[in-house]
Amino acid sequence: MQLAHNGVTGSDVTLPSGDVVIPRGAMIGGEWLATSGPDREICDPANGDMLATVSDADGRTVDLAVVAARSAFPAWAARSVASRSALLEDAANAIAANAAALAEIETLDTGKSLNQSVSDVRIAERYFRYYAHAAEHFFGDNVPSSEGMLVVTQREPYGVVAHITPWNAPISQLARGVAPSIAVGNTVVVKPSEHAPLSSLQLGEILREVLPAGVFNVIPGDGVTAGAALAAHPQIDHLTFTGSVTTGIAVAKAAAGNVVATNLELGGKSAAIVFADADLAAAVKSATGALIRNSGQSCSALTRFIVHRDIIEEFSDRLVASVEALTVGAGIDDPDVGPLISERQRQRVFGLVEEATSQGAQVLTGGPTAPDTPALSKGWFATPTVLGGVTAEMTIASTEVFGPVQSILVFDDEKDAVEIANSTEYGLAAAVFTSDITVATRVAQALEAGQVQINGFIGAGAEIPFGGVKHSGHGREKGFEALHGYTQVKTIVTHYSKR
Ligand code: NAD
Repeated sequence: MQLAHNGVTGSDVTLPSGDVVIPRGAMIGGEWLATSGPDREICDPANGDMLATVSDADGRTVDLAVVAARSAFPAWAARSVASRSALLEDAANAIAANAAALAEIETLDTGKSLNQSVSDVRIAERYFRYYAHAAEHFFGDNVPSSEGMLVVTQREPYGVVAHITPWNAPISQLARGVAPSIAVGNTVVVKPSEHAPLSSLQLGEILREVLPAGVFNVIPGDGVTAGAALAAHPQIDHLTFTGSVTTGIAVAKAAAGNVVATNLELGGKSAAIVFADADLAAAVKSATGALIRNSGQSCSALTRFIVHRDIIEEFSDRLVASVEALTVGAGIDDPDVGPLISERQRQRVFGLVEEATSQGAQVLTGGPTAPDTPALSKGWFATPTVLGGVTAEMTIASTEVFGPVQSILVFDDEKDAVEIANSTEYGLAAAVFTSDITVATRVAQALEAGQVQINGFIGAGAEIPFGGVKHSGHGREKGFEALHGYTQVKTIVTHYSKR
């Protein structure tokens, strides 16, 4: 333990790019404050070794953070857009300057491969840079109305925006919500997941030097204490929650108690429909990519491949070959697939694979096992798995697995394919692979999802709106949609008489 700042101790974390001290408290009002605990040990999912100790926030710390954000709000909102924009640029530069350390912390904390973390940190930087510029082009309207009336709308920040984030992509999801929030004049309180809080805390230290005190506050803590206190806090004005459906419903209810607006980014079971005329290489790449990205722990991952009967054998063979070529290892060694976040998550994944086989699915490769590699025995690794013969009725076809498992389903005609794709409670993302533009367009219209991609799939892109329908949530992140989401419209009607 080392002294980090303001009398708050921190954990000395050894990284390939050099050691860092990750503070043990909460960053509130530009200062590190000691939290009253309990202490939480944060472990490396690749080997179970302890990385750092953080002290969880309780309700009192949450309250201090919200008060700090509230008192910083008027001055931050009153700044010129150019001045806020310049500070967001500075934040992007500070992330870029610390990119190597942030990526290594993210990998050690979440288990994901280093090149994925490098990309996540780049995306985080990009969010701040994109919204620095986008906010300057975001404004209200002049509404044509009656003679003698000038009607204008202006976009106003909400005030204090709370962000509760999950563990699978902590730094990029934090930046995804925080950058547009503060770009339009809100101040924020972030509560990262207790399973992977380190990059968010380190970002607190980095942005403490850049943003005015109180604009960005970050508090470690679990869901039932810190998360619940934040969601129910009467002084927040907006809540963005990214996480599971069950928790999303709970936080939305808590926020509704104070008539606080919510943006819910919840789970997914994204489907891809592969027609017989598809570019199979592109489809197989996307199906494999879903197991690589965050070791399959991605909300938008395409985890149901609904494939035309004429090509199902060829698709399955090619996917199995592609998945069997994946390397599995500690994220810091930059394999294709790293460990899962916890033993609990791994057992959940194994359980879902076992249930699928008991319901009639076939394991085409992998299975509910750890890789047979002694060097990986201490970590929470799962063998990348492909299941064939999955049907829409099986549990695995409608349940989010959050692990490196791909399911293959078969279809005969377009109508059936769309029906299968739309048959879950989720509606986050979807894809269609075909060389027929008419089919692609028709299917994209019919799919119940907040985002549909044709003939490929990417997870990133600050400018590409993203969010769910059905139980995947409501509200949109990214692009200009997020700027709309983090502001409210005020209409001003001026009555004037003509000379
Ligand atoms: P989770 O719901 O368990 O936790 C998410 C966050 O909520 C954590 O910070 C947790 O501490 C907090 N929390 C838990 N209980 C709470 C409560 N009662 N009140 C307030 N906060 C509480 O989810 P997770 O396991 O961390 O993440 C996995 C889930 O997140 C998956 O379902 C995944 O699909 C979803 N997810 C969605 C997106 C998206 O953008 N749509 C992105 C990533 C993950």
